[in-house]
Amino acid sequence: MSQRISILPETLTNKIAAGEVVERPASVIKELIENSLDAGATEVSIEITAGGRRKICVTDNGHGMSREDALLSLERHATSKIRLDSDLENIMTLGFRGEALPSIASVSRFSLTTRETGSLEGTEIIIEGGKVHDVRACGMPNGTVISVEQIFFNLPARLKFLKSAETEAGHVGDVVARMAVSRPDVAFSCTSDGRDLLRLQQSDLQRRLAQIVGRESSQHLYSVTRKDEYTTISGFISTPALVRSGTQSIFTYINGRFIRDKVVQHAVMLAYRGVIDRGRYPVVALFIGLPPGEVDVNVHPTKHEVRFRRQSVVHDAIQAAIVEVLSRSPWLPSPPTAISLSKETTGQAYRERIAAAAQVSLAMPSRERSFPQQFPVKGELATAPFSPREIIMEPSTLFQSEQPQSQSQSQSQSAGYFSSLAVIGQFHSEYILCQADSELVIIDQHAASERVAYQHLKQQCQSGSIESQRLLFPETVELSFSEVAVAVKFNADLANIGFELEPFGGTTLMVSAAPRIVARKKPLLLIRDILADLMSFGTSAAFTEALDSLLSRIACHSVIRGVHLLDNRQIKELLLQMDQTDFAASCPHGRPVSHVVTLAELQKIFKRT
Ligand code: ADP
Ligand code: MG
Repeated sequence: MSQRISILPETLTNKIAAGEVVERPASVIKELIENSLDAGATEVSIEITAGGRRKICVTDNGHGMSREDALLSLERHATSKIRLDSDLENIMTLGFRGEALPSIASVSRFSLTTRETGSLEGTEIIIEGGKVHDVRACGMPNGTVISVEQIFFNLPARLKFLKSAETEAGHVGDVVARMAVSRPDVAFSCTSDGRDLLRLQQSDLQRRLAQIVGRESSQHLYSVTRKDEYTTISGFISTPALVRSGTQSIFTYINGRFIRDKVVQHAVMLAYRGVIDRGRYPVVALFIGLPPGEVDVNVHPTKHEVRFRRQSVVHDAIQAAIVEVLSRSPWLPSPPTAISLSKETTGQAYRERIAAAAQVSLAMPSRERSFPQQFPVKGELATAPFSPREIIMEPSTLFQSEQPQSQSQSQSQSAGYFSSLAVIGQFHSEYILCQADSELVIIDQHAASERVAYQHLKQQCQSGSIESQRLLFPETVELSFSEVAVAVKFNADLANIGFELEPFGGTTLMVSAAPRIVARKKPLLLIRDILADLMSFGTSAAFTEALDSLLSRIACHSVIRGVHLLDNRQIKELLLQMDQTDFAASCPHGRPVSHVVTLAELQKIFKRT
């Protein structure tokens, strides 16, 4: 009988392993930086030419290696980072597989020069396609330099898959940025064809992030911290005003290791759902700390994926940490000191403020007036071009806050930011103008109303009490077959959010009840939108997935768009509602609700500076 099976030579097994670890120049750089960080480096510099296709060089000032270790490091499964089975349960380093160096060396022209701290000389090892060509002593500072030239020179199939130098350099930049965010205490530099891609001094996370995402963007970042007995979460997250169209600015780390994980990403996106539009992504740098035994990083050779022992606990902790910050909306300015016009005061600055307030008010309707001439009175509602009671989604019915005026006033005196603003008036029947100290605050009344309605619906939904209202005259709507199928499939779920729908033969559906806040608007239009939303979500598990966007749709339909006069009471009511609303700074689509123009900005416009 013939022998068919043989053990592969090591040069070949290394090449095969390289297939998993070394995909492109950026993956080489990831492995080399991990090694530098594991070696305790405080400075890492990366140089590439032709996107790393021609040459990659990574230099560090870490603890280096002795000659023996340097030779061993190029053997497969040789590592200083774990020794025993049980060590796999307690990995504290970035590397542990002992695969990277031999894999990289097997598919390139490779040199390793290293000098161990305290050693008199360094060692240089030259390898080509996995075969050692030379080992010699050399002079060098402490640390390690690894140079990788002509990657995949002996693997033409792989070489073909490399992209242009610019694209590869882009990937390298991304990898360095991710690693740099994870270790602000380490200085990084990265050059491409001699030009700086990144030059980062040792710093703290906030400054490091500012350098990576840009100074302007970094002003929209707020810190997150949360700790329980199982997880610690820290980092920075962006306000809903700072979004990207891809996930490239979501940096998530488990125990210091950059990971791209579905569970983590889902938790982040769920936290932002309702405050940013679908298809938009926040800027996030999140560090999740877990006991090492609770997370398995040995899932994939690149170690980008992980497995959690208690997935849902981690998921919920991440979501809660982010929601805590978003709902607090710390980017809103703190309540201004109220200007009391009745008080006798002294002090130049204060008088100037009052004078400034008075001047602005001159051109505007008085704060005390409630637009009596422009505003239809009750009996005229039927003939009025719009119903003022509808403008802010009928606040009294929607928010069950049929409080007497005095009560809502007394609440506003306990001064949340919005209700403590001095109302100047309305601009273009679309914007509310207010004053806060020396700032002019402009509020988009539609965005504000929508946000209030959405948050309120969400609360009702959570307590299972969305108010439904029977339509006086049930209406029928013509749909496609697939829309009817969706309506039937989600009938019970739709009933929970206030819709009563019944098949009415063929592709006709009868709508007999709708959520109260839209019952008097155009529920049929809304139903169409909602069914289209549900169809785009697809599977049966999707209703909860779709819920937030459905609620934001209902909220959007519940408020009147475009220009509408508001009286003073309605404005005050809206501002009060804003203060009682989480996430008040942006509408459910992520558009800002308010904008501040400072006195200094105005003075600049009028060249008064
Ligand atoms: P791993 O990092 O998984 O241990 P590698 O193949 O990446 O495997 O590296 C093998 C070993 O070489 C490491 O365990 C480490 O001891 C040593 N080593 C690699 N790079 C460096 C470096 N830059 N400085 C010091 N030691 C290094
Ligand atoms: Mg390694």
